[in-house]
Amino acid sequence: MNEKKDIRSLTIEELTSFFETNNMPSYRASQVYNWLWKKSCLSFDEMTNVSLELRNLLKSKFVINHIKIDKFQKSNDGTIKNAISLYDNLLVESVLIPTNSRTTACISSQVGCSLDCEFCATSKMNRIRNLNPDEIYDQAVTINSQSIKYHDRPISNIVFMGMGEPLLNYSNVIKGIDKITSKEGLGMSPKRITVSTSGISKLIIKMADDNVKFNLAISLHSAIEKTRNEIMPFSKKFPLEDLLEAVKYWNFKTNKIVTYEYIVWEGINDNDEHINALVKFCKSSPSKVNLIEYNTTDNKLFKSADNKAINQYVSKLEKNKIPVTIRKSRGKDIDAACGQLANKLE
Ligand code: SAH
Repeated sequence: MNEKKDIRSLTIEELTSFFETNNMPSYRASQVYNWLWKKSCLSFDEMTNVSLELRNLLKSKFVINHIKIDKFQKSNDGTIKNAISLYDNLLVESVLIPTNSRTTACISSQVGCSLDCEFCATSKMNRIRNLNPDEIYDQAVTINSQSIKYHDRPISNIVFMGMGEPLLNYSNVIKGIDKITSKEGLGMSPKRITVSTSGISKLIIKMADDNVKFNLAISLHSAIEKTRNEIMPFSKKFPLEDLLEAVKYWNFKTNKIVTYEYIVWEGINDNDEHINALVKFCKSSPSKVNLIEYNTTDNKLFKSADNKAINQYVSKLEKNKIPVTIRKSRGKDIDAACGQLANKLE
């Protein structure tokens, strides 16, 4: 069978040459491109300024793959969680997180995850496949529309903190972000986008070399190798020393500082040894720390530390002039919070 191609996998140049090969004026390509991206159209019939003949030609050669909202849930704190169905019916999750000052879209980069962070529900699924650039872009567009509909404002920020490890789907994530930031797409500033990684050092170096303009967050959770290896077993392949070198390189090349995401757990990292290790790590290269509230998953070995331990982290970091914030969990009642995205509906 002759499978039709997803038209959105074509670049504007490829689309233009398709039109030229078929003896159609090339300006048609930018019209069609505009429908596909800026207007997020779902079918060729919506392209009303395009001739019927051309629409039929496109229909005979291509399909338009588009994500669909499979399930919509609204938390009592305003957080919205979508189960998003992809063209092959696989599911990922995308979340809208409103606060007074911002509305953040939290989007997924892979179906499942190949990493094995013990405290994260997503890691209990295998990695099934990478998302395509259009699937990444569509999540941002979908959440943006929901933000306008429910909160009267477009999204102000995007974080790649949904399912998956963005750096293990590097080229599609970069292409998706290019669309999100381009004027043919959402036209959003890359300064408002943060990619979060579990710490794949060699790809952090690649990103720095590629001169990307978005922000970087790293899920550190422990600056002591032995502990980090236990709670994030894959990290044995990415020693802290290499991670720090990569962070220094990132800072040198991009002039941006990284944010370390960090959860404090009872009996795991709630002691002075861990606090001191974090301070030392942070002092080696300009950085800030985001202490994340832990959301319980099925793994009973992990329990959030008490406020006293968290305050000790805050005061020691502040004493050492390392900026620190505490991120309150959102959307817990609908399992939309960090580390809880695991397709419970499946
Ligand atoms: N793989 C990437 C992006 C997805 S996870 C990464 O690890 O950065 C987004 C954030 O949620 C990470 O900081 C992750 O460590 C954190 N997280 C995972 N499980 C969590 C949980 N149960 N409670 C709170 N945060 C969690």
